[in-house]
Amino acid sequence: MEMVDPARTALTDAFGRRISYLRISVTDRCDLRCRYCMAERMTFLPKDQVLTLEEIALIADLFIARGVRKIRLTGGEPLVRRDITDLVRRIGRHLGSGLDEVTLTTNGTRLVQHAQALAEAGVRRINVSLDSRDPERFAHVTRGGDIRAVLDGLDAAREAGLAVKINMVALKGINEDEILPMLHWCDAQGFDLTLIETMPLGETGEDRTDHYLPLTDVADGIGRHHPLTPTGYRTGGPSRYHAVEGLGVRLGLITPLTNNFCADCNRMRMTCEGKIFMCLGHEDHVDLKTAFREGGPEAVEPLIDRALRLKPAAHDFRIGADAPAAAVRRHMSVTGG
Ligand code: SAM
Ligand code: SF4
Repeated sequence: MEMVDPARTALTDAFGRRISYLRISVTDRCDLRCRYCMAERMTFLPKDQVLTLEEIALIADLFIARGVRKIRLTGGEPLVRRDITDLVRRIGRHLGSGLDEVTLTTNGTRLVQHAQALAEAGVRRINVSLDSRDPERFAHVTRGGDIRAVLDGLDAAREAGLAVKINMVALKGINEDEILPMLHWCDAQGFDLTLIETMPLGETGEDRTDHYLPLTDVADGIGRHHPLTPTGYRTGGPSRYHAVEGLGVRLGLITPLTNNFCADCNRMRMTCEGKIFMCLGHEDHVDLKTAFREGGPEAVEPLIDRALRLKPAAHDFRIGADAPAAAVRRHMSVTGG
C-alpha cells in the first residue's frame, strides 16, 4: 500500500502557516438584511451557479483528506438552504477520523426547526449572531427581522445541548450601550460572547465609518466594570478570548482593524460557487467548480495547491475618511463570515 507523506499533502502556505480550518458559505441568500452586511436590495446568484450539497460534500472530503480538521458552515444564512442538515450529517461522518469539529454560524431565525437535527449530526457548538436584544433595534439593524424567532431558536439550541456563542458586531450609535448588558445576559444564559469590528466588505448603501467602533475602546469601557484578562483559550478562529472578572462568560474580541490577527491565520474559505478565497480581505481566488464539474476530484487537487500559494501575509483593511467604502467588492455573505 502506498504510504501518504503528511508533510507533502498537508496544507501549508508560503509563510509556513498550516491551514486546517475551512469555512464554507453554503448559500449567499439570507432571510435578513443586516445593514453592515448587505444592501437592502441584494441580487443573489442563480441556482445553477451554486454548488449542489453533494458537490460541497465531495469537495469537503478532499479538504479533510488534505488535513482540514475544522469545518464551519456559514453564508448568507446556512439554515435557509434546503436540506442543509443532510450536508452537516454527511460532513459529520468524518468526526473522529480526521475532522475534529463541524460547526456553523447562523442568524438563529431557523434554529427552532433545525437545532435538534444539527446536534444529532455531530454539531456541538454554534455561533449565533445577535446585535441587539431590543426588538425595535433588532428590526432596524436587520432591516425587518423578528427577534422572537432568534430567542426561540436560542432556547431550541439549548434544549438540543448545543453550546452557543453570541456574535455581536459593535456599532457606534446603534448598539454600543447594549454591549455591557449583552455580556451580563450571555453570562446568565451560559453563552459566550464575541464582539466584532465592522469590516469594509461590499457596498451596503450605508457608510460604515459612521458606525465603526474600535474594540480597544469597548474593551477599556468593559474593563472599568469587569477587569479583563487575556486567556490562551482558542476555538480555532480569529477571536481572542478574555476572562471577565466577576462573571463566568468568556469574552472574545475580533479586531481586524485595531489589532491585526493574520500572523497565525489557519483559515481558508469556499463560496457557494466553489471559489476558494484564502483571505477575507483580498480578491484573489481559485475557482474549483468548473474543474470539479469537468474533471472530478482529481482536477481539484492541483487547484488546492494553487490556492495555498495565493494566501497573502495579511489583509489590508482600513476604515475612515481616506479609506474606500469597501476594501473588497464581495459582501461578507458571499465569502462567509
Ligand atoms: N447569516 C449568518 C449570521 O449572521 O450569523 C452567517 C453569515 S454572517 C456573514 C457571519 C458573521 O459575519 C455574522 O456574525 C455577521 O454579524 C458578521 N458580519 C457580516 N458582515 C460583516 C461586516 N461587514 N463586518 C463585520 N462582521 C460582519
Ligand atoms: Fe444575513 Fe448574516 Fe449578513 Fe445578517 S450578517 S444579512 S443574517 S448573512
